[in-house]
Amino acid sequence: MIIVLMGAPGAGKGTQADMLTDQVGYRKISTGDALRKHVKLGTPVGKQAADIMARGELVPDNVLLDVLREEIGSNPKEVVVLDGYPRNLTQAETLRQVVEGVHPVRGCVHLDVDRSAIVERLSGRRVCSSCGTSFHVSANPPKKDGVCDKCGASLYQRPDDDAKSISVRLDVYDRSTEPVLDYYRQRGLYCKVNGAGVTDEIFRELRDAISTCLN
Ligand code: ADP
Ligand code: ZN
Repeated sequence: MIIVLMGAPGAGKGTQADMLTDQVGYRKISTGDALRKHVKLGTPVGKQAADIMARGELVPDNVLLDVLREEIGSNPKEVVVLDGYPRNLTQAETLRQVVEGVHPVRGCVHLDVDRSAIVERLSGRRVCSSCGTSFHVSANPPKKDGVCDKCGASLYQRPDDDAKSISVRLDVYDRSTEPVLDYYRQRGLYCKVNGAGVTDEIFRELRDAISTCLN
């Protein structure tokens, strides 16, 4: 069963998906994380994706299809939280076809956050180079500057978290990704969760919204 987690860049999808994994046991698939792993390892996919990602544009759909197939698995009982896919209508249709019969999409939960908060969140974000945990320079700083609280590895700023790429990513979101919300709305699968405020409260609302989708 698949739950599609949607929201603008910086809406907190990654953080919330990690909490769903740790606290509820759902499996998270993040296409952004998967692509960054390919980039780090220098695979053919990574070589194709690196510059596109740094600019904040979308990696081609056929590349994403390979990544999706690699990650999705075939256990129909498992609850999979999909973070970062689909990002356009073509991908939404691809997902439906790829998972048909095995992993039905049971809901699309939209983590809704104000545009003004988003730029602030992304530009102050720092990410662990080893475990991927996100921090924020002022809202959620690590105990020791530049060091991950969880695993002690060094923090870095994602190349696409600079002002220019942030603006491209938000444009891409408005143009290509937002129509996907309507795609799921028309299929009766859409629900919205307020993504502003305290992480734990957002988490509770999100967890309840997902339970409703799964019932
Ligand atoms: P964010 O949601 O913060 O923008 P992600 O980590 O989800 O970041 O994605 C980072 C980048 O990876 C995207 O800007 C894009 O270049 C690429 N990417 C991730 N998922 C997809 C996708 N489904 N289709 C195309 N490109 C993708
Ligand atoms: Zn870490």
